[in-house]
Amino acid sequence: MTEPLPVSRPLGPMMDTMTWPEVREAAEQGYVPVWVIGSTEQHGPHLPLATDVILPLELVKRAAEEIRLLVPPPLVFGFKSKALSGGGQTFPGTISLDGETLIRVVRDVISELARHGFQQLVVLNWHMENINFIWEGIDQARARGALKNAIVMSIDRPLAAYSEDALAWLFEDGFSGWAIEHAATMETSLMLALRPELVRTDLIIDDAAAEHPWYDLIPEPTDHIPASGVLSRATAGSRAKGERLQRMIVEKLLGAIVKEFGTESHQGA
Ligand SMILES: [Zn+2]
Repeated sequence: MTEPLPVSRPLGPMMDTMTWPEVREAAEQGYVPVWVIGSTEQHGPHLPLATDVILPLELVKRAAEEIRLLVPPPLVFGFKSKALSGGGQTFPGTISLDGETLIRVVRDVISELARHGFQQLVVLNWHMENINFIWEGIDQARARGALKNAIVMSIDRPLAAYSEDALAWLFEDGFSGWAIEHAATMETSLMLALRPELVRTDLIIDDAAAEHPWYDLIPEPTDHIPASGVLSRATAGSRAKGERLQRMIVEKLLGAIVKEFGTESHQGA
C-alpha cells in the first residue's frame, strides 16, 4: 500500500466526497457519522419527493459546522407510506421498501460503519413508518457482533425532544398530532427555511382525508387519503417558523450527541 494522501482539515462532513485516508483519519479523531434515513414519498403538490431526506440532511450539515460529525450517503428509501400518516402508496413517485429489506439495509450499513472503526454512530430518521425497522436493523447488527464496542444513538423523531406546549407557537389552530403533520405546517416551514427554491409556493394548500379513524384498514379506502397528499394545514407554514424550528432541532441534536458521546467541537483537541 502506498502512503496515503495528506489529509485536509476540517474533515467532511459529506462522506461520499471524502477519500479513504480522510475517513480513516476521521474515525481516529472521533468523528461521529450521522446517517440519515428518509423516504422517497409524495409530499403534496408543493414539496419534493425527497423532503424526508433533504430536511434531516440540511439539519445535520448545520450541526456539523459545530462539532465533529460526518454524513454518510443517506438512505433515500423508507418503509411503505401509510394512508393515515403519509397518504399511502398510490401517489406517483412514492418508492418504498418492504420491511425486511429496510431492516437488512440498516443492519448492513451500520455494521460497515462500525467495521471502519467508528465507535459512536447516530441514525437520524425522518419518516415515521421506518421507526421499528431501523431499531431492528441496529439490533440485528448488535446481535451478530458487528457493532464490536460501538454505540448507536437512534433518533426516531427529532421534534420528540420538545413537548407539544413548547411547539404551541407552530400550530396556531391547535396541534392535531404528528401523524397528520405530513407535507403540512412543520415540513413546509422547514423547507421554506432550508431549501426555499424547492417549494412550489403557489401550490401550498390545506387538505385533509374525508375520514381519519384511529385504526388502519388494509387495503386503504380512498376516503382515508386526501386527494392532494397534504394531510392537514400547509398554509400555516412560514420561513420564520422554519428558521426557529431549525435552530431548536440543531440545538437538541448537538446537545444529545455531546452528552452521550462527548463529541468535540472543531476547535477542540
Ligand atoms: Zn415527510
